[in-house]
Amino acid sequence: MPTIAENLELVKARIAQAAAKSKRSADDIELVAVTKTHSAERVGEAIDAGHLCFGESKVQEARAKIPLLPSNLRWHFIGHLQRNKVRQALPLFELIHSVDSLELAQAIDRIAHDDGLHPRVLLEVNLAGEASKFGFQPDKLRQEMESLLALPRLSIEGLMCIAPLGPEAETSRRYFVTLRELRNSFENEFELKLPHLSMGMTNDYTVAIEEGATLIRVGTAIFGERSKKQKSKATDEHGFSQISGS
Ligand SMILES: *Cc1c(COP(=O)(O)O)cnc(C)c1O
Repeated sequence: MPTIAENLELVKARIAQAAAKSKRSADDIELVAVTKTHSAERVGEAIDAGHLCFGESKVQEARAKIPLLPSNLRWHFIGHLQRNKVRQALPLFELIHSVDSLELAQAIDRIAHDDGLHPRVLLEVNLAGEASKFGFQPDKLRQEMESLLALPRLSIEGLMCIAPLGPEAETSRRYFVTLRELRNSFENEFELKLPHLSMGMTNDYTVAIEEGATLIRVGTAIFGERSKKQKSKATDEHGFSQISGS
């Protein structure tokens, strides 16, 4: 069983390889280590290995876990954000990858105004029209872009997608290309900059890098398999013993 430090080394080596292959600098790609379901203790192993940027997908779990860890970490929110959790989420996260509706964006803007914050966000796009996933349909996003851009407190910095689960990494490529092209066309149509593309997970992050990802969200390749029940506690003994015992 490789350690978390060894897993991180391997992922970083593959990032460097994919960046070189596509003539990009590895410094332009941020590895968001996804810690959902994993205990603060296991996150601590990644911190000891020098990693500082982490992703969580549930506010409740993040609120339990983040205070147990050093305060110099950078946390990204990558899951579906419920409107009634926005106030709790905003002070915890430096970037929200997953703004998936105009209503959510408006709620974030309103609460950010109340609380004196200027949140950085990405817009999540549902490229394959999967009913099981959140995110703007591309046409709807184009229609609502002016309304999103008019929200004064939001700093909209790019797009995010989750590719449909395919048999191999290459299956995801066309979705990553589509997200990049959508970003490029929005930059032209709305005369703005959307520098970030959040795309690529354990199964397909090297392909995502080849297609322009600036943020990759990798959990399993670093922390091992999550327990099937997806238990969401900061100290998840069940998930911990299952990982270390296999
Ligand atoms: C869980 C999750 C990830 C990480 O998935 P892995 O396959 O474990 O790397 C990435 N992005 C989102 C939105 C997630 O919920």
